[in-house]
Amino acid sequence: MAVLPIVEYPNDILERKCETVTVFDKKLAKLLDNMYDTMIEHDGVGLAAPQVNVAKRIAIVEIDEETGTLEMINPKILQMKGSQTDVEGCLSFPGLYGEVERADYVKVEAQDRKGNTYIVEAEDFFARAIMHEIDHLEGVLFTTKVTRYIDEAELEGFEEE
Ligand SMILES: [Zn+2]
Repeated sequence: MAVLPIVEYPNDILERKCETVTVFDKKLAKLLDNMYDTMIEHDGVGLAAPQVNVAKRIAIVEIDEETGTLEMINPKILQMKGSQTDVEGCLSFPGLYGEVERADYVKVEAQDRKGNTYIVEAEDFFARAIMHEIDHLEGVLFTTKVTRYIDEAELEGFEEE
């Protein structure tokens, strides 16, 4: 188990477009395992590689045990539908929460750790978490989308991405 340090805002790497992954090797597998340990250690529901100082198109999401761990390498959004507005947080902005409007449904094509292409469809909070992480790979932070910041007192059992 290896918990990696989380890059907090402000830091250049958080606002840069990440590079496409072309090599699917043991190093990538180890990074994904370490990102998982890091996400769990910090009670997150998602983590993107730039948040652990790696400027590559890699992100993981796990909103609950039922959904399981989603590993997205080079993800591309194929379709978005509807809209939802809810509170988001981010491990790179400790203690900061705000309402963000996002699509309610998303269809994404990505590769797994072996380089196999797959498609995932998600709704509600799962869709929100996926879109938050894909934004990180474009260098887009949730704070650029917040319509209203939320007091910690207004929060109940909220999880960070
Ligand atoms: Zn985030």
